[in-house]
Amino acid sequence: MEERFIADCMLGRLAKWLRILGYDTHYQSHYPEGVIRALAEEGGRRLLTRRRDALKDRPGAVFIRSDHVGEQLRQLAEEGWIQPDPERVFQRCPVCNSPLVEADPDSARDRVPDYVFHRHAPGFRRCPVCDRFYWHGSHGERMRAQLEAWGLPGARQ
Ligand SMILES: [Zn+2]
Repeated sequence: MEERFIADCMLGRLAKWLRILGYDTHYQSHYPEGVIRALAEEGGRRLLTRRRDALKDRPGAVFIRSDHVGEQLRQLAEEGWIQPDPERVFQRCPVCNSPLVEADPDSARDRVPDYVFHRHAPGFRRCPVCDRFYWHGSHGERMRAQLEAWGLPGARQ
């Protein structure tokens, strides 16, 4: 079964990149008492944490060794928690974690700059929850180049 994650409050950048890679990753900058436990144990999410004391009584949790997001992703790949796959990149909103949907080009026309619309229509995706639009433009290329620079396997199409 595919891993689903919950990232602790120190791992916001890692959460964003896991979402870019297509992984369902819960993250918030502050977790009230008991929320992590509920999401991990009842929600079936694997806890990723930078705090050794958070590992106590949580046998499935993964201690993230580095402060650097590229090394954090490499650790998860090397330990087999993620298998980066170019087919799955940009399927999920990096901001709110919702799966993206194909956007109707007419609805994108008013929401993206003209030069983007003419270059990328009809390849727009939309987040149904936070209503952001995404497309495979230079931003996407930069993200792929970044994943490759971090040495993540299969990041480039
Ligand atoms: Zn969103």
